[in-house]
Amino acid sequence: MVTETTLFIDLEALVHNYRVLRQKLHNDTKFLAVIKAAAYGHTPGPVAKKLVALGVDYFGVAYALEGQELRAAQVDTPILLLHPMPAHFEQILQNKLEPSLYSVPLMRQWIDFLEYKNIVDYPVHLKFNSGLNRLGMSTQDLDQIITLLQSTKALKLLSVFSHLGASDDLQAEEFTQNQIAQYEHFYKALVENMQAKNPEFQRPWQHLCNTSGVLNYPQAHYDMVRCGIGLYGYGNDPKHDKLLKPVAQLKAPILQIHHVAPGQSVGYNHGFMATQPTVVASLPLGHADGLHRIFGQQNGCVWINNQRAEIIGNVCMDMIMVDVTQIDCQAGDTAVIFDSEHGAQDLAQTAGTISYELLTGLSKRIKREIVF
Ligand SMILES: *Cc1c(COP(=O)(O)O)cnc(C)c1O
Repeated sequence: MVTETTLFIDLEALVHNYRVLRQKLHNDTKFLAVIKAAAYGHTPGPVAKKLVALGVDYFGVAYALEGQELRAAQVDTPILLLHPMPAHFEQILQNKLEPSLYSVPLMRQWIDFLEYKNIVDYPVHLKFNSGLNRLGMSTQDLDQIITLLQSTKALKLLSVFSHLGASDDLQAEEFTQNQIAQYEHFYKALVENMQAKNPEFQRPWQHLCNTSGVLNYPQAHYDMVRCGIGLYGYGNDPKHDKLLKPVAQLKAPILQIHHVAPGQSVGYNHGFMATQPTVVASLPLGHADGLHRIFGQQNGCVWINNQRAEIIGNVCMDMIMVDVTQIDCQAGDTAVIFDSEHGAQDLAQTAGTISYELLTGLSKRIKREIVF
């Protein structure tokens, strides 16, 4: 029973998923937990605290503000900042965030900033573009990178990493193998060149795998892996989903039930036209909560008393209407939008999207309740 729309966060499921993923790794492979986008919508504070207790080695966030919020929540674990920007340099420094240096100009600006502040040995990570073509250095940048590393004491290069573009898609194995080969080539060239100039140069860690990389490419775990979605219970493949437990469960109460006669409509712009007597339940969540309009028009469904109720008509800003003609239910009963049995992945698929988008799009006004 819920009295308002609630996203339950099951920390026991998080523990389970962490252990499942951890068990896939070599003992000395580090675990970086990706908790960008408010821990994929799962409340970053409690999730981070639980992961710290479990012994996670690193956190990863997208933007500086996300790192700042973790520091404000008393999280002391090292934080890799995936998308640093010069506008946030001061914030990065104040919060001891470790930037991913993805271009030579960014690397130069970060060095200038640190040197101006007389800072030495600041931990950084170098990102290589192995085929995603999003962010990252290229092989042509190697000479400049080496010159920059040689010319400054400001940086301590902790890792060289890259990001896979299709690790969830086994049809794309050749592409992924090529990414792995490109990455290894770049890494080797960098380390050999640096060691030739400076025998003291310490080998930086290597990391490449996101969740699907961990599950599908065990040969590429290297020194660290970066898991996001798997921690939250989704493995991008039914075979892997079975091992994991969804951490979030979204539920809403039925506010009202209407009996609609043939010829009457439901929702804005007559989005649904009844052709037979239809029973309609109204639930308090809509497109402003991240349940996009695409879920309407019988694309998506919810579960009431374990029976499927289609979302009919157009999704409103704050409300959806579902067809409960065949379901014995009343106002006050609970509708499951997704839970461990009916996963967010399945609902996402009905709208041609993925669990990531559905989970991270859930708005702040949905109440979060932590289940310990
Ligand atoms: C978001 C992100 C991850 C996590 O990916 P999952 O598929 O959620 O495990 C890892 N690495 C980088 C660079 C990312 O941007």
